[in-house]
Amino acid sequence: MSSIFTQIINREIPSKIFHDTDSVIVIADINPKAPLHLLIIPKEESKNFYETKIETLQMLSDTAKLVADKLGIADHFKILINNGLGQEIPYLHFHFMSDKGLNKLKFIED
Ligand code: AMP
Repeated sequence: MSSIFTQIINREIPSKIFHDTDSVIVIADINPKAPLHLLIIPKEESKNFYETKIETLQMLSDTAKLVADKLGIADHFKILINNGLGQEIPYLHFHFMSDKGLNKLKFIED
């Protein structure tokens, strides 16, 4: 069975999509741990931080900056990567969190 993130990317299960390209999808976390909690998920799957290509990590960082810019919070966010510790889904992704930016958060299917 494919990862829940692969199913989200393939639209087999629904999600609230903020940003979608050939290489990355950004969705709302279903169980937010901050007022604004997005997941930045590469379309190329890797299990953890160590297995992830540097190009993918660069692309995820660039995406985080783009998301922050779009939300007007370039100086007010945090990124978390769980690697084993606290990692529920064995598919590397960035958590993007803030207590601001909600006013500009508009999902693609809205
Ligand atoms: P991690 O513990 O770093 O693997 O993070 C996995 C995250 O995925 C958690 O914050 C979950 O709340 C979130 N999550 C699990 N299932 C879904 C889903 N169907 N849609 C959106 N987020 C999800």
